[in-house]
Amino acid sequence: MNKVLFRNCRFLVAQPTPFGGILENGALYIEGPIIKAVGPTAEIEMQYGAQEGVDVVDCQNKLVMPGLVDSHNHVGEAQMFLIFGWLMSPLQGIVDTAIRVLWPAYNWFTDESVYDLTLFGLLNMLKHGTTTYANAFPFPDTVYRAAAYAKMRAVIHAQMITSVNLPDARNEQEYLALAEDAIKSYHNTLDGLIQIGVHPSATYNCTQSMLIKGMELAEQYDVQYATHVAEAPDEKSRVDVTWAAEGGQLQHLKNIGLMSPRSLFFHGAALNEREIDMLAETGTALAHCPPTNSILGNCAYLPYMLQAGVKVGLGTDCPTHNLFNVMLSVSQQHNVMPREMRGLMPWTPFELATIGSAKALRLADTIGTLEPGKRADIITVDLRRNTNLFPLNVGNLLTFIAFNGPGTEVADAMVDGQFLRRDGEFTIFDEDAIIAKAQAWCDKFTADWFAAQESGQPMFNRVHEEYQRL
Ligand SMILES: [Zn+2]
Repeated sequence: MNKVLFRNCRFLVAQPTPFGGILENGALYIEGPIIKAVGPTAEIEMQYGAQEGVDVVDCQNKLVMPGLVDSHNHVGEAQMFLIFGWLMSPLQGIVDTAIRVLWPAYNWFTDESVYDLTLFGLLNMLKHGTTTYANAFPFPDTVYRAAAYAKMRAVIHAQMITSVNLPDARNEQEYLALAEDAIKSYHNTLDGLIQIGVHPSATYNCTQSMLIKGMELAEQYDVQYATHVAEAPDEKSRVDVTWAAEGGQLQHLKNIGLMSPRSLFFHGAALNEREIDMLAETGTALAHCPPTNSILGNCAYLPYMLQAGVKVGLGTDCPTHNLFNVMLSVSQQHNVMPREMRGLMPWTPFELATIGSAKALRLADTIGTLEPGKRADIITVDLRRNTNLFPLNVGNLLTFIAFNGPGTEVADAMVDGQFLRRDGEFTIFDEDAIIAKAQAWCDKFTADWFAAQESGQPMFNRVHEEYQRL
């Protein structure tokens, strides 16, 4: 059995609080995939250090903490930024973004390109400390194959949509069948490393019957139900008009049974206090993604959400971002939003990027803090040459990670007790090869885009308008 001892940790963040959660000169002992003990180095070393075959990692210059947890990402989506480069006018909201940027770029996907671009997204995440990710994406078989290769912890939110034809399925029935197959084949596999969730893309681009049947599927197999809700002001005003007779969008979603402890809503950036209360009352979790929300002109009312008791995690919503950046965004945006409640406790961004996201993904018993009995998902930052996380002490540490963390690359990253990155080197990924393949796809897609523009062919097939009552 794999035995690892992290000793002499300059700082060991066991819990997301400066009040007793951070050990100086702490140690952590792992057997197999499980954390067995956390405590002062002298104590842990005396108990476990003398055994045969213990892999001892000296951390006297390292910050050791829980792997970050990304509660919302579209991991294989890097190629959509090609189209951002070709846009000649500002985006007009979320549906405009989907039609001009997302769906044309999704229409390029094949099993092969999804696999290669997913590995590219995972490489970026792991380098920046994310060990668990939620991946809202079509092509569940391919996404699973990439997840199994990478050995990071994954919640695959199998995307379904009816308003457009994407290359992996054509309609409601096919998508529901694809999601059910993914659940049966992959849910809770690889010793629990991979979970599957049902994911109608958004409440305005799927038929009501797909939204409802998706929830029935999630209930039947006891998996998560995840969808985009109230991402942007343009969407929110349109859906509230669509469902005015029912009392607005959120009341409608509650009425049809889509709000429960099984549910995870992405964004909720345009929700008001009354609607946030509904999230709290129904146990619906929320993935807060401030960098992408700000591009569309708004920001979720996080201080109110936390006061109301909503389970909030952080998401990048984007494979080329990382959670250190998102933590900075959280620290800044809620101080400047013109709302009654402003500001957050200094350690809140870190808390949300770890145990907060774990709760949102229904994984809080497994990951999110470093404590005995939990899975050994751990990252370290080498502080020897680190000029941004300086000077550190127990009081400022969690604040500095959020304020000064962007750009941080981790020295080590471990999932289930296995090193996926050690002393700055990946153990599974071939970084140069993965980047080269992603670049080759982007070069091909660029050529395809210009060819399609020249021939006047549509970049994707629209099936129905958004914001329908059907
Ligand atoms: Zn999203």
